[in-house]
Amino acid sequence: MGVLTTEPLGRVLDYRAPEGGCGDGDFVEVPLGPRRVLGVVWGPGEGKFDPAKIRPVNRVLDARPMRAELRSFLARAADYTLTPLPAMLRLATRAPGLGDPPSMRKVFRLTGAVPNSLTDARHRVVEALRDFGAAPVTLAELAEAAGCGASVVKGLVKLGVISEEEAPRDQPYPPLKPGGAVRLEGDQVAAGDALVAAVALGGYSATLLKGVTGSGKTEVYLEAVAETLRTGRQALVLLPEIALTSEFLTRVEARFGARPAEWHSGVTMTERRRLWRMVGTGDAGLVVGARSALFLPFQDLGLIVVDEEHDTSYKQEDGVLYHARDMAVLRAAIAGCAVVLASATPSLESWANVEAGKYQRLDLGSRFGAADLPEMRAIDMRAERLPGDRWISETLAAGVRTVIGRGEQALLFLNRRGYAPVTLCRACGHQVGCDDCDARMVEHRFQKRLVCHQCGATKPVPLACPACGVEGRMAAVGPGVERLAEEVTARFPEARLSVLSSDLFGSARALKEAIGTIAAGGADIIIGTQIVAKGHNFPLLTLVGVIDADLGLQGSDLRAAERTFQLMRQVSGRAGRTADRKGQAWLQTHQPDHPVIRAILGGDEEAFWAAEAAERRLAGVPPYGRMAGIILSSPDVAQVFDFAGELARRDGPLRRIGAQVYGPAPAPIARVRGRHRVRLLVKAEKSAPLQAALAEWLAQLKPPTNLRLAVDIDPQSF
Ligand code: ADP
Ligand code: ZN
Repeated sequence: MGVLTTEPLGRVLDYRAPEGGCGDGDFVEVPLGPRRVLGVVWGPGEGKFDPAKIRPVNRVLDARPMRAELRSFLARAADYTLTPLPAMLRLATRAPGLGDPPSMRKVFRLTGAVPNSLTDARHRVVEALRDFGAAPVTLAELAEAAGCGASVVKGLVKLGVISEEEAPRDQPYPPLKPGGAVRLEGDQVAAGDALVAAVALGGYSATLLKGVTGSGKTEVYLEAVAETLRTGRQALVLLPEIALTSEFLTRVEARFGARPAEWHSGVTMTERRRLWRMVGTGDAGLVVGARSALFLPFQDLGLIVVDEEHDTSYKQEDGVLYHARDMAVLRAAIAGCAVVLASATPSLESWANVEAGKYQRLDLGSRFGAADLPEMRAIDMRAERLPGDRWISETLAAGVRTVIGRGEQALLFLNRRGYAPVTLCRACGHQVGCDDCDARMVEHRFQKRLVCHQCGATKPVPLACPACGVEGRMAAVGPGVERLAEEVTARFPEARLSVLSSDLFGSARALKEAIGTIAAGGADIIIGTQIVAKGHNFPLLTLVGVIDADLGLQGSDLRAAERTFQLMRQVSGRAGRTADRKGQAWLQTHQPDHPVIRAILGGDEEAFWAAEAAERRLAGVPPYGRMAGIILSSPDVAQVFDFAGELARRDGPLRRIGAQVYGPAPAPIARVRGRHRVRLLVKAEKSAPLQAALAEWLAQLKPPTNLRLAVDIDPQSF
């Protein structure tokens, strides 16, 4: 039979079934060379080898197998993203010791006084045990923590120095009571009914739920969650930011009487292990998580919600490159369940899928409680003539003064972390860059360092120019949020200022607290980067000032218009959420006549998307054509260009499906951590079998050992 391991071999290996047998999806331990590794039984295998010679499975680790639904999801996702299957399996087995049946976990305890005469190794076990306390661990984990073999632990048990007890069963999650609903109103009623019907009917369905922030999208999809729980199936809600989960958890608790299970990088390993098991037995009815929660072994998935579906952080840009929104739709199709994509500013992909009849669309028209969208206006910066160290126009400053005078809040939005984006020498014009990346160093004045936003490298702010040696002419150029804070402090000394920038908070919790303080009215002026755009509710906020509305429109990225439009609408949507306070959103721009800026101001979304769709269709790019990026990287720039050039020349398999290859060209980030990055872009018709052709094309050449190759299907920038 075949076993797939998480080892990077890329294929299913043949093994002989153990005594007592095992079936598809069982977690097993198998020998691989001299080691024993975790694997999952994956079909009958190739059966190429003499059955007498192939090695047997050591043992079955868990009686609950990985279900066929998850296995086919992993296989399809691997095919789609051109990822080796073992790498996909790793995403689904991420918590350590997953394969261990609960019965293998023991609680080890010290029985009494520890004899002085213990050997070093035994002593280390005792020490390790003090660290674990009463937490259940396996023998292997304890031995590993102590840096010794399992026999040392067993020896201590025999000696009676430590005792061994059965671990208590996993604590089940408190059940959620699917009641406590609010009364839906207006458009919400029809939308709620449609989602509940989709869940009740069972089977695959995909819905785009569109409505401005505050229109009640969350209330509506919680109806669908409630229906899922009522029918005894499980629901998964994906959120783009950990910082958003706590607000969501509180809401679920208020409505369903208990907190749902949480899955993201901030959750402890013990907790994740428990969740992983509970999800598998169906004892966790609702999971709220980051994109990796898509790979959990749900027993019976009835609903997936992707909230803020347009959010760019759903694209995993490291390791396995996948887009969580697309994978959510894929998993729902395989699991035969409903998927809901919720957003105030849907991605063009989702608009196109609605247009093509693949998704149903539900609209929530106005804000709940009928608060209007903010009034939008442009501030023409060409007319403002600001001195070089100021970024807040007189017009905007006056607006800020007015709202804080009324006891309301103003948000100044600038999507740039740090103090200044450029540090340059006024004598020779040299700009300080990162030594290992093709990126400028950004001054962070709180840290008193220059920081590379690509690789995180830092260095001190130089007194003399690293290029020409002239002293005292280094200057900070352009604004970051820290510098804007300086200007605000100088111009509004009496105002309470809060700066929300991810790097200024040590933890998600600290950020959450700051957000809570602002929501409670503990600030007059807020300066924020992108993190404020995401769904936080600040009831006192009535003026949003965008410091540089043109920022996202620079460069040649074809998604620039879409991104700017979404971001500006999201940010503007922070203003004036409540019925009694009408909001304002003012955009500082040097190009008030730019079509995107005009579309933002005019607020005619449908017209904007129609124009954007027409342009992409004409260019044959996603979502109306297919693309893949091949990112090649190596410390050796000549090698990586040579290899990429050779690949580009052997484009037969691509030409056969009518696809073209562009490049090689430096990747959007041309050098990271000392590795030169080169990109080939492949463009094909929507209906072309792109993955198969790519696989055949890439199989022609084996990359040299120090050259890395990553395939990025549907790249975010092109
Ligand atoms: P969105 O997810 O679209 O931003 P929410 O679902 O968070 O909108 O709704 C915004 C606010 O209005 C929330 O505080 C929510 O509880 C409240 N709300 C929305 N719809 C209703 C309703 N029908 N009855 C009572 N409160 C509602
Ligand atoms: Zn760097």
